Amino acid sequence: DTIWLAGLRDTEPGTIFDKIVAGEIPATVVKEDDKILAFKDINPVAPAHVLVIPKVRRGLTRLSKASPEHYEILGRLMVAAGEIARDESLGFGNGARIVVNDGPEAGQEVFHLHVHVLGGRAFSWPPG
Ligand code: ADP
Repeated sequence: DTIWLAGLRDTEPGTIFDKIVAGEIPATVVKEDDKILAFKDINPVAPAHVLVIPKVRRGLTRLSKASPEHYEILGRLMVAAGEIARDESLGFGNGARIVVNDGPEAGQEVFHLHVHVLGGRAFSWPPG
């Protein structure tokens, strides 16, 4: 499928995250606005693990595809990640690890940009 949105062409195949945005598969949504969606990771690697995604990918299969066209959506994603990282009702509030895996070598499996917000435990550095 070729999707034209605001002049940006996105010819890569869609992912499971499009189905979550469309409501075709269930997710535990914790935050939403017109541009972003945040939901609990189905396979959490920390007591609190939320993914923040743009509702429309617009070429952002991965962060290294970013360009100035994406300034606004990237700002929205980061502000939402910061708000989630202080949300005690979700198990955050004592520090968070906020991660974007870019590409297969970094462990990226779903090619729709997503920000991992991890909390509820301590994290080591460097990451594995
Ligand atoms: P990795 O799987 O190595 O973490 P990514 O950075 O691409 O790679 O992250 C994809 C994330 O999406 C994973 O944490 C995975 O558990 C999560 N995920 C996959 N399918 C779903 C789903 N249906 N609902 C919620 N989270 C999902």
